[in-house]
Amino acid sequence: MNTCLRSVPLLPFWYLRSFQTRMLTTTQLNLDSVRSQLNEHVRLVAVSKYHPAESVRECYEHNQRHFGENYVQELEDKANQLKDSCPEIKWHYIGQVQSNKIPKICSIPNLFCVETVESEKHCAAFEKAAAKLNSNNKLKVNTSREEQKGGASPEEAVVLGLYVRRECHHLELNGFMTIGSVENSDKIPNPDFDVLADVRKKFAEAAGVDESSLELSMGMSSDMDTAMKQGSTSVRVGTAIFGMREFIKPQWSLSLQDMKKVEESSEEKEDDSFRPISMKCGVFEDSKGSAYIEMGKTKVLVEVDGPRESPSVASQRGKITVSINEENLRIRAQLESAISAMVHLDKYPRAEFMVNISILSSSGGELAASILASALALVHAHVELFDIPVAAHIIYLPETKSFVIDPPSPLSPSAISITVALLPNLNQLIYTRLKGAVSVSESREALSFACKQSLRLYSVMRKTILSSFQNQPKTTL
Ligand SMILES: *Cc1c(COP(=O)(O)O)cnc(C)c1O
Repeated sequence: MNTCLRSVPLLPFWYLRSFQTRMLTTTQLNLDSVRSQLNEHVRLVAVSKYHPAESVRECYEHNQRHFGENYVQELEDKANQLKDSCPEIKWHYIGQVQSNKIPKICSIPNLFCVETVESEKHCAAFEKAAAKLNSNNKLKVNTSREEQKGGASPEEAVVLGLYVRRECHHLELNGFMTIGSVENSDKIPNPDFDVLADVRKKFAEAAGVDESSLELSMGMSSDMDTAMKQGSTSVRVGTAIFGMREFIKPQWSLSLQDMKKVEESSEEKEDDSFRPISMKCGVFEDSKGSAYIEMGKTKVLVEVDGPRESPSVASQRGKITVSINEENLRIRAQLESAISAMVHLDKYPRAEFMVNISILSSSGGELAASILASALALVHAHVELFDIPVAAHIIYLPETKSFVIDPPSPLSPSAISITVALLPNLNQLIYTRLKGAVSVSESREALSFACKQSLRLYSVMRKTILSSFQNQPKTTL
């Protein structure tokens, strides 16, 4: 008895406290593990997209200073939230640049580097915006090269670097960045990384500077080792630190104020963009759930009814039944499977939901529009989804090896048409359709391009759902 008692150590209060401060969060432990894999003098940029500001703070408190973000709005929100508590933070913008967002990017507090400058047009706009800021520090830019659409070719990247040095006195060329192509992502060594190293070499020769003064930003969670072996000086790592990008339930966590901001920023139209989109979640007061979408001239209305107890549903899982106007019957089954994949059907045993889709006008992209509108109508009916889906229709033109996003019909006869729908936060494809003859590598590239483009609709979907919840009197489920 006595011995037993004595073997329980009496921990003094100060010991407990110091133990607590030494407890690391999972994110901090992950950060340590990534750091232990870094070569000497390689910078780690922690990519925090889709993860909350709180996770960024955890890393900051563990001495991480450089962070990367892909979306202007998300970056701006986090930068503002953290500017007082994390004053030494250094933000990298690593998402695609849209010209109309450049002044906004430049005004972000503690912005360190824009890694994705692709054209003289971008440089000139950054120069103009940076000049206005009147800052003593030059804005750092990396010219980025990407196999997918967008990005400078190796030759262009060199020329662009020279342009920055010659013409842009408020910018400083920091180095070069690449994501690398999908095809090469598993290759060791990765030819795309060699190409980037060569871009730096050529630029250094042309500009008469030392190569080591320029950064090579390449390597992510899955290929940082390869990238470092091929000379990377800055790796951008997300998943290995923060874990899988999970669903932040935005519709319940964003304040009304935040929503306004999303609204202001959603107006964008460039050549490589979607047609004008408008959507509304909740159009009829008397139906259970409804939504309406216009993508260019394509117009889709969806009504949801249910859950209804159905004798025809034998299984424990619920069931989605789609009805659609007769001209479009050929896509009914496809829609049914895509929509079923996004609903948490296990939660609705023996129940049936009727999803009535009316394609009011067809001008390309009906499948994508129907999937998006159905999701909105389901959310409006308070049906539980795994995630807010996104969807896109693109075409690939093999002759010119180029993509067109959200094209209006009719399509050129040789065009390859691709529609995808995915649950972005689960990294899950719920629908793909590829029409036309392409090689395997082309189809992979087209698919990955379509997925990337579809993600651009995420904030619009989110905004639409938000505004419907804000305008609606609280309903009980
Ligand atoms: C998301 C992202 C990363 C991080 O990718 P992980 O695979 O999560 O490490 C790096 N670079 C860019 C440009 C990204 O968009």
